[in-house]
Amino acid sequence: MKSSSIALVLAFALQVSSHTFVRAVDTVPPDSVPPTTTIQQTTTTLKVQTTLTAKDIVKVSRIQTNKPVVFITIDDGATVSDQLAKVLDKNHVAVTTFAMPEMLWRARKWYRARQNMTFENHTNTHAHMTTISPRNQKIELCWANKLIKQIVGQRPVLYRPPRGSWSEENRAAMAKCGLKYAVLWSVVIENTVPEKLEFHRGDIILFHYVQSLPTVLPEILKILKKQKLEPALLRDYLK
Ligand SMILES: [Zn+2]
Repeated sequence: MKSSSIALVLAFALQVSSHTFVRAVDTVPPDSVPPTTTIQQTTTTLKVQTTLTAKDIVKVSRIQTNKPVVFITIDDGATVSDQLAKVLDKNHVAVTTFAMPEMLWRARKWYRARQNMTFENHTNTHAHMTTISPRNQKIELCWANKLIKQIVGQRPVLYRPPRGSWSEENRAAMAKCGLKYAVLWSVVIENTVPEKLEFHRGDIILFHYVQSLPTVLPEILKILKKQKLEPALLRDYLK
C-alpha cells in the first residue's frame, strides 16, 4: 500500500472514538493527505479471521519458564532517538513494543529499522478500555491491528491494556480481533534505576518510550547480564 493511502487510513482511524476527535486534526502525519469521508468506518470493515472465543483469552504478568530469560516491553512509542537505536542495536536487544499506530507512523523509519522487535497492540488511541462500549473496544483493538500491520508489516498478536486497566469484558473484543494474550507486567522501570534491583526468570519488564530510556536501559541490561538473564521476545513464549 502506498504511504499516502496508509496515512489516509490512519488519519481516518484516529477519528474513530469521539473522545479523540480533536486530536485527529493535529495527528495527521505531515506527508499525508487529509482524511476524506469516502471511507466508511464500520465494524464490518474490521472482520478478522479468528477462531478465538472469550474463554481462550489468557492474561499474564510473568512467564512460567525454566529458561534464564526476561521480557523487555516498551509502551506508547512517543520518544525514540538515535541514541536509543544504538543501545538496542549494539546489544541486539529483544524488545516487545506496545505502541499506538499514530506513534509508530510518526517514527516509522526508526521502527522499521529495528531488527529484534515485535509490534503489539496497545489500542488505537490509548483508550480507556474499562469504560467504553464493547463495540468501541473492538474498534480500538481491530483498528490498531490493521494500522500496525500497514505501518510496520506485522499484525499484533498480544495486547497490553493502556494504564493496565483490565476489564473481563475486554476478552470478547480481544477474541474478535485475534489477540489471545493480555500482557501485564511484573516489574516497572521508570526514569531511574532502583537500588538492589533483582530480576527473576520470566519477568515481564515494563518501560515507556521516554527521554530517559537510552540512559536507563543500558543500566538494566548490565544488571540482567550480571544476573545471567537474557532478554527474549514474548512472541516466542506466548503461542
Ligand atoms: Zn500506555
